[in-house]
Amino acid sequence: MVFKMIELYASDKPKVLIIDDERDQVELLCLQLEDEYIPIPAYTGKEAIELVKTKLPDLILLDLMLPECDGYEICSILKSNPGSRFIPIIIISGFFEKPNKIKATQCGADDFIHKPIDRFELKTRIKSLIRIKKNYEALHESENRYKQLFNNSPAVTLLVDPLNYHIVDANEPACTYYGYTYEEMTAKKITDIDTFSQERNREISQQVFSEKKGHFYSCHKLASGEIRHVEMYINTINIRGQELLFTNVYDATASKKTERELAESEEKFKQVVELSIDAIVIGSSSGKIVDCNRAACKIFGYDKEEMLGLKIVDLLHEGFRSNFPDETPNKEIIEGKNVEIINKRKDGTLFIAETATRTFKLGDKERLIVYVRDVTERKRAEEALKSSEQNFRTLVNNTLDGLLILDFEGRILAANAAVGKMFDLELEEVTGMSIAKYLAPESVPIAIQDQINVLNDRGGYLSVYKAVSSRGEPLWIEGLGTKIIYQNQPANIVVIRDITVRKKAEEALINAKTAAETANRTKSEFLTNMSHELKTPLNSIIGFSDLLKEGIAGSLNEKQSRYVQFISSSGKNLLEIINDILDLSKAEAGNEDLNIEEFSINESINKVISIILPQAQEKNIKLNYNSENRTLWIAADESKFQQIMGNLLSNALKFTPADGSINVTLKQERDRVIITVKDTGIGIAEDSLEKIFKPFIQVDSSLSRTFEGTGLGLTLVKKYVEMHGGNIYVESKIGEGSSFRFELPVTRQRTGEPVLKVLEKQKVDS
Ligand code: ADP
Repeated sequence: MVFKMIELYASDKPKVLIIDDERDQVELLCLQLEDEYIPIPAYTGKEAIELVKTKLPDLILLDLMLPECDGYEICSILKSNPGSRFIPIIIISGFFEKPNKIKATQCGADDFIHKPIDRFELKTRIKSLIRIKKNYEALHESENRYKQLFNNSPAVTLLVDPLNYHIVDANEPACTYYGYTYEEMTAKKITDIDTFSQERNREISQQVFSEKKGHFYSCHKLASGEIRHVEMYINTINIRGQELLFTNVYDATASKKTERELAESEEKFKQVVELSIDAIVIGSSSGKIVDCNRAACKIFGYDKEEMLGLKIVDLLHEGFRSNFPDETPNKEIIEGKNVEIINKRKDGTLFIAETATRTFKLGDKERLIVYVRDVTERKRAEEALKSSEQNFRTLVNNTLDGLLILDFEGRILAANAAVGKMFDLELEEVTGMSIAKYLAPESVPIAIQDQINVLNDRGGYLSVYKAVSSRGEPLWIEGLGTKIIYQNQPANIVVIRDITVRKKAEEALINAKTAAETANRTKSEFLTNMSHELKTPLNSIIGFSDLLKEGIAGSLNEKQSRYVQFISSSGKNLLEIINDILDLSKAEAGNEDLNIEEFSINESINKVISIILPQAQEKNIKLNYNSENRTLWIAADESKFQQIMGNLLSNALKFTPADGSINVTLKQERDRVIITVKDTGIGIAEDSLEKIFKPFIQVDSSLSRTFEGTGLGLTLVKKYVEMHGGNIYVESKIGEGSSFRFELPVTRQRTGEPVLKVLEKQKVDS
């Protein structure tokens, strides 16, 4: 038995499982088969099912009549089990009627054999069935292998029926690639995803069938709608008698793109060469021109055909040929740097060109590429620039004004000769220094602020700085600065001028003015003091002479009365002079405040007229007053206004002979009030009109003058008018009379009251 078991595993004889409950029957069959097969006995259905699992027999002989479960049942169980489905089963029975046969067939039995069994017949049937099984297994295994290959391939793989283009099978990578489920994929035709025409697909099929394989490019549409370039490798495969197309698909979009990009880049490169403004000439290693661009033809004056018949050296001036290959073989080709050489055009004219040469390999051929840039124009421009720069430098260095270029840290980038002269420095010492080094400390913040302003584009500046020369001498410098671009950087260009002389003159002028003002103030102060001192004794003179005149100290004789009268009137005259001096010096000292208040200008004029009127009547002089606006109010110092009017009216009265007339007019023009005092008096000579407003000036200054006066009245008038922000004018003709006109603002800024309010007041009053 042990031996048998070994034989069972070691032998390659087919195994036959014999299932029968009758032991002698089993033994008989074993004996009948053992020369060619390995019989395996089983006496019950259950035992048989176990043995099938463990022994994997090649065929089963099954007796129909078994005690626990009959042969049909065992047959059904074995045929429904995937592990034993393909094992052929021959059913053995003592009798077979048609229904039994039908039933046996329905249970999956492969053959029947009657008892008593013919040994040879049995063996023949067994052999035949085992052969079929082996064939089937071989086929199954090959199909399995293909299936595994198909499914495990990482490549996108499709199985296509060439007759109707149906996708019969698709592996997982294919489903993932196209974006369909397996079911969706296998419901499609290859023509649903291939953008080739049906005609083209037919051609492919034919080619694949005749050559048994094929390699094609196509475009496939994915579920997303995206079209991809693909490369397909197709082989034919026979599966269960059917010739199918085993198709491996590779995405070629990226390589197609690279191909396209390469083509585009080649095209671009060709265009660059063709459109280059530089001449590009390609020569063979022997120096023959094999290609050139349009610019080369244009620059050298040949057409392309002519160029291709030339050698590179034909394009060069004789003196420059030695470095380029001619027909002499193996002549060393110069490689590299840009050199300026003289080239020759077709018409024999020469031109300077910047030339660079390189060697390169085109396939297995050595090539020389020559770039030629015509620099004639550039050379000319460089020359022009050089000479214009020279001119400019001469101009800059000969100008008397200093020119400085400062960076924004205030460092001197460049300076002209005048700067060196101004600061008593060598120019080399100046460059790179901070400008602050040459400025007095108080001027440094001004210079910094100017720099900031220029830097921030706030425009140019004109500033005055106190500077110090290298010898420590103070200088006054006026700087006019603005922003420029210097050596590709924003910078500040400053034109500087030494204004020390002017500054000193200005200082002297200011000093003189201050001194003059001080002197004038001292003079006024002196006059004020003196007038006060004079007034006290004068008071006694006038007072006592009036007492004597009135006879309070006893009666006087006629002569005494006359003399006392002289003393009194002289005293009064003197007092008038002193009062005027006092007023004037107060006004000139500038320490007199105006007492501004609002008053009716009309009423004020009337008051003055009423004082003057008796004297006018005495001289039979008509005094007319004409006002355009009798309700006008102004803001001014009323006592000063009355003094102005009083002085002008008393002058008019004084200088108008009897029976004459004086006209006073008042009118308003916008925000100014205009008052005119016009008389029919003696008039003033034209050359005196200028002077009459100056102190102590009298037109008739002779000792024998007929008119009394101090010569201070008009000076005061002018002063007071101007203190109010007004002006005074005079027109006069000898023998015809004079007209004094003065204007005052209706309101004064100092009161802060606008004109409008004044005008409103007029309305209320009227
Ligand atoms: P005075 O005290 O001499 O009048 P003013 O300064 O008032 O001093 O005048 C200066 C001079 O101007 C007068 O002396 C006179 O010669 C001349 N003057 C002023 N007003 C008149 C006038 N209305 N007609 C003619 N001359 C005048």
